[in-house]
Amino acid sequence: GKSRSHLANTLRLLQLPPSVQDHVIAGTLTAGHARALLAVKDPDTVARRVIEDGMTVREVEALAAGEQTGTGPRPGRPRKAAIEKDADTRALERRLESSNREVTKLRDHMEQVRRDAMTDALTNLANRKSFDEALERHCDSDEGKNITLAVLDIDHFKRFNDTWGHQTGDQVLRYVASVLSRIGRAPRMAARYGGEEFAMIFPSENMAVVERLLNEARQEIASRVLKRRSTNEDLGTITISVGIAERDYGEDAYDLLDRADKALYQSKNNGR
Ligand code: GH3
Ligand code: MG
Ligand code: MG
Repeated sequence: GKSRSHLANTLRLLQLPPSVQDHVIAGTLTAGHARALLAVKDPDTVARRVIEDGMTVREVEALAAGEQTGTGPRPGRPRKAAIEKDADTRALERRLESSNREVTKLRDHMEQVRRDAMTDALTNLANRKSFDEALERHCDSDEGKNITLAVLDIDHFKRFNDTWGHQTGDQVLRYVASVLSRIGRAPRMAARYGGEEFAMIFPSENMAVVERLLNEARQEIASRVLKRRSTNEDLGTITISVGIAERDYGEDAYDLLDRADKALYQSKNNGR
């Protein structure tokens, strides 16, 4: 795209002597002049003539063409020219390497930023944005695509926070997330949907399979006696409620999520 050709252009301009590059960066030389200067033998001197005498791009190009058809460097001094060229080449290589490192660093940084934007910082699960996008993708890909969706909510979590404090509550969120992430490995997906709510996608798995898996997870969580990390104090147990919905033919993400939410509500009403 545009930035790619811009980068290629920039890398090409790195072949100019650093003093000339500085003029390009400062704006005393235009990009057009800089490109024309790439073709002359002594860009430093010609750049000075551009800046001081107002040489035009066309004139620089004409000069470069004349140099190419004229007689090359006289024999008798090739060694010195070769040595200078080697030094120039090495300097150029160093600049290109450092420029490549810079580009790699930027790309890594951008990937990190992208990952962070899709991840919940507390639990390291996918966040709601990431989950919504994945669910849309599943539902858009194929009308007949079979997926099962689950929404999960920690019971009476406000009470837990009020009793033990928010920080201990955060530890519990991480614990629940760790159980769900173990079950939710790709191609499945587990996400923190909001506060103490989680959501999971099970592609190509029917409701009976998902029900069995999540029942096991629910029992595992309910039977774990929680301890406060710092003091080993006994915090009792927590339970979660689960709502599951299997996608109807052609159903969109919104309706599917709505049905899973209603199932969760039902499950809460049947006793937490
Ligand atoms: P229910 O059984 O109906 O789900 O009751 P609940 O108390 O779990 O639900 P409610 O929606 O009334 O309260 C949710 C609570 O979750 C409120 C808040 O204290 C807690 N919570 C939400 N986000 C966080 C968080 O990031 N950290 C901690 N520690 N608590 C949170
Ligand atoms: Mg809730
Ligand atoms: Mg809750």
